[in-house]
Amino acid sequence: MESQVYYTDARARYKRNLYDKLETIVKRSEILNCIEKNDLVAIKIHAGEPGNTTFLNPTFVRKIVEMVKEREAKPFITDTTTLYVHKRHNAIDHSISALKNGFSYSTVDAPFLVADGLIGDDYFTVKIDGEILKEVYIGSSIFNADVLIVLSHFKGHELTGFGGAIKNVGMGCASKRGKFHQHSGVFPEIIKEKCTGCKLCVNRCSFNAISLINKIATIDEKKCKGCGDCLVVCKSSAIKIRWVAKAKEFQKKMTEYAYGVLKTKKAKVGYVNFLINITPDCDCCDWSDVSIVPDLGILASKDMVAIDKASVDLVNKAPINPLGKLKEKIESKDKFYDLNKVNWRVQLEHGQKIGLGNINYKLITID
Ligand code: SF4
Ligand code: SF4
Repeated sequence: MESQVYYTDARARYKRNLYDKLETIVKRSEILNCIEKNDLVAIKIHAGEPGNTTFLNPTFVRKIVEMVKEREAKPFITDTTTLYVHKRHNAIDHSISALKNGFSYSTVDAPFLVADGLIGDDYFTVKIDGEILKEVYIGSSIFNADVLIVLSHFKGHELTGFGGAIKNVGMGCASKRGKFHQHSGVFPEIIKEKCTGCKLCVNRCSFNAISLINKIATIDEKKCKGCGDCLVVCKSSAIKIRWVAKAKEFQKKMTEYAYGVLKTKKAKVGYVNFLINITPDCDCCDWSDVSIVPDLGILASKDMVAIDKASVDLVNKAPINPLGKLKEKIESKDKFYDLNKVNWRVQLEHGQKIGLGNINYKLITID
């Protein structure tokens, strides 16, 4: 069995700009046909860390918003808070960062909502029967939406090889607890020098796993469930994540999170991958290096595994930018492996195994 992936390249000409081409592949792929009148439509984006200059162009998002509104539905733009403490760590900082990056109502024609609430603890638990995970924690605005349309800037990623639709859903729709669940080992760790003894974490922990010893927070590892809630409330950055997740296990967890998100949507989902500014690093970075290959175009599909596989294949067939990070690997046949030494196939193979989608696809090219 193979899934259909619609593709248009990045070339444009008189009376055929990239908005026109985007509209054509979205229509041909029928990814919006599931939308009914008054549906609440979550349009998942990555708003980009301030300083990054190659995140998804907000004007492409507006095009999708217009198409959703033609169906008399109610679109909103959404993303979740980050685990690390930077400029998208809570809903206020994230909203301001998104505004500064152009995701304003005046540009995208829809409100921007942080899906997991003010401090990232607004989520729903979804039971799954994954190889590793039995439940996942999804941002409530995404959980409650009737439809999920996932717009992904396709690029490299240090933990998963590449970041595409699977990552945008699996990691990007998870609440802070969900991100902690995927990223870390079992326990957070207290940085004693930074702890002020404020007790916010002590009061927050539902499992009575934290107490103050000599005015410093101390975690009882026998009681700790690894929920990450203490991390959310500490204002002194005194609680550290143990980044012990290995790339293979991390990718599997991320894929199982994506499965949990889909479980809430009854097949009312669609994906668009933008292979424009294909940078070596994630949009969470507050910088943008030059692209590793030329702009390749836009893809649309109802299958998140197929669209990511088609995207990787296009990148691997493309010539290397001689000025970019892979300039020493001009003959590279596996660009994302050569960038990060990560076997990115795990997310695709595990995705197919658990029923997320197909690795096999048919690429339908549209001018
Ligand atoms: S919230 Fe942070 S600063 Fe306050 S006691 Fe806990 S670890 Fe220390
Ligand atoms: S991770 Fe959760 S269970 Fe563990 S100490 Fe923090 S709040 Fe308590």
